[in-house]
Amino acid sequence: MTDHPGQGAALDNLLDESRTFPPSQEFAAHANATAETYARANADREAFWADQAQMLHWDTAWDQVLDWSDAPFARWFAGGDLNVAYNCVDRHVAAGNGDRVAIHWEGEPGDSRAITYAELQREVCRTANALSSLGLAKGDRVAIYMQMIPETVFTMLACARLGLPHSVVFAGFSSEALRSRIDDAQARVVVTADGQFRRGSVAPLKPAVDEAVAQAPSVEHVVVVRRGGNEVAWNTGTDVWWHDIVERQSDQHTAEPMDSEHPLFILYTSGTTGKPKGILHTSGGYLTQVAYTHRTVFDLKPESDVYWCTADIGWVTGHSYIVYGPLANGATQVVYEGTPNTPHQGRHWEIVQKYGVTVYYTAPTLVRTFMKWGGDIPASYDLSSLRVLGTVGEPINPEAWMWFRDRIGGGRTPVVDTWWQTETGAIMISPLPGVTHTKPGSAQRPLPGISARVVDDNGAEVGRGEGGYLVLDEPWPAMLRGIWGDDERYRKTYWSTFADRGFYFAGDGAKYDEDADIWLLGRVDDVMNVSGHRISTTEVESALVSHRDVAEAAVVGASDSVTGQGIVAFVILNGDAAGDGDSGSAALADLRDHVASEIGPIAKPRQIMVVPELPKTRSGKIMRRLLRDVAEDREVGDVSTLADSSVMELISSGLRTGA
Ligand code: ATP
Ligand code: MG
Repeated sequence: MTDHPGQGAALDNLLDESRTFPPSQEFAAHANATAETYARANADREAFWADQAQMLHWDTAWDQVLDWSDAPFARWFAGGDLNVAYNCVDRHVAAGNGDRVAIHWEGEPGDSRAITYAELQREVCRTANALSSLGLAKGDRVAIYMQMIPETVFTMLACARLGLPHSVVFAGFSSEALRSRIDDAQARVVVTADGQFRRGSVAPLKPAVDEAVAQAPSVEHVVVVRRGGNEVAWNTGTDVWWHDIVERQSDQHTAEPMDSEHPLFILYTSGTTGKPKGILHTSGGYLTQVAYTHRTVFDLKPESDVYWCTADIGWVTGHSYIVYGPLANGATQVVYEGTPNTPHQGRHWEIVQKYGVTVYYTAPTLVRTFMKWGGDIPASYDLSSLRVLGTVGEPINPEAWMWFRDRIGGGRTPVVDTWWQTETGAIMISPLPGVTHTKPGSAQRPLPGISARVVDDNGAEVGRGEGGYLVLDEPWPAMLRGIWGDDERYRKTYWSTFADRGFYFAGDGAKYDEDADIWLLGRVDDVMNVSGHRISTTEVESALVSHRDVAEAAVVGASDSVTGQGIVAFVILNGDAAGDGDSGSAALADLRDHVASEIGPIAKPRQIMVVPELPKTRSGKIMRRLLRDVAEDREVGDVSTLADSSVMELISSGLRTGA
């Protein structure tokens, strides 16, 4: 941890928010979770989680809800057996819901496919038989390097069915990123596609796999889905077409029960703060919590809702809230292959209208992008089917939250700001849409069954109106079971900071407001120290974004001989402001004053730079550490998980010309 000159509280509390939105009576009357849910969980946490686990199908009952004797390595529902894929697919068919659509898949070029649960069962069985025919056995690892197509879901579920831990790697990561992940997990098979549709054209995927596999001796086979139709090089020894191997298989397969702690997948974190970590998740506890949170946070009604999570499947949100959570609950959902502005900026709203989407879960970065494109675009579609909106990935600035609720939710839908991490596996802190009086910008309360606190350097809980570090002080079912192959790094990264208290250190700053609601304030690594005040990046960014000319903002602390650190802001201006040539010094001075009046003179940026883009991970998070490198005039660090690596050059060259 960095040093903390401001003794006691780790962060200053600057931004105030007092708007609240209670759920409508009608929503509250039919909600899956009520105030009673908190009471039951508080009365007996383990009994509460056992009740949630009971909603799944177990082949063998567990002996113990939680075995924490080897902390920090947890065992949940110890001694129990279940099959994750059976729970996500077969169970619904057996219950008579085989005709329900599981996935409305929408391809970027406009092709589409509706897949019922019965069909999903046949596809997953075929895929499982195909993987078995390649000689894979329980415990072997499979790497998946594929875009948002049905075969990706089939493969993940087939792996789960066979007990093959999967490692999904964002399609679009470099061959080196893929190689290192294949190598780390010693994957025996890679499943990929020839190419993917991206902004209207085909981006090849297979060449990156070829390059990676050439240096990854653990790989015996590469299975290739034909999607892009682009020409690919072929290695006859290893490569096999999906349509050759999968389609000829039987669509019958009996799922074998797995131990509750059998590894389900490995997934690498976004790499926002440094080298990605291979996070390990297991079966019973993970499935219990993703199903429970999906049911309660989104108030899911499987018979009537059409749910859509816009995340990529290569990110944990795609694992938990496209694949495992929704399918465990028998939901009907939309899966969209492409980018939000192909072929036009209304694509998402067109899809909402087409399928009558009721629950829409996305990232703050996308909300800010929609704001930048303008409210007229969503206004020309029928969005009246929407009833719950959610965000994840970064703090959502209050102004973006308000825009989301008003322009997309018609001023009527609850907005749930969900805090969680790859490591937590499932949502941890979030409003409940039928209970909570929501507040723009705050994730508010730990969910029933979850415990989180904001503490100071010594691990003592801070008071209302004070900031500090976010910790999780009780184990939870979907918690990571370690970092793949590196127990030491697991202990050190998450459990050493507050070792004497046994807290999990999340790495995020947070504060309590006067109602004891939690506000996430960005990474602890990103906290700025200006003349002894510890200021969160999030609060300054929110102040900037609340100015009408600013579409997006990223703030970093750069070393300053006078103040210790100085605040340097990178802003993207809104369409109008960017166009009128008024990004000169007067406009920037106005922005600095705006920050001072919103949160106080101490937070006034030393410097504001107008940029065309911000560096983001594939999951849409701003990589402040790279901007800090720019602000301090250093060579920029690891960019391997950046969505678009040319952005850094764009930013640096713009700066040199004095923007
Ligand atoms: P790495 O750990 O490699 O740096 P990462 O932390 O970006 O990558 P993820 O697990 O995808 O990888 O992201 C989790 C982080 O995202 C959280 O620790 C938090 O900083 C941020 N986050 C997620 N949801 C929210 C939210 N609702 N509000 C604020 N921050 C959020
Ligand atoms: Mg992280």
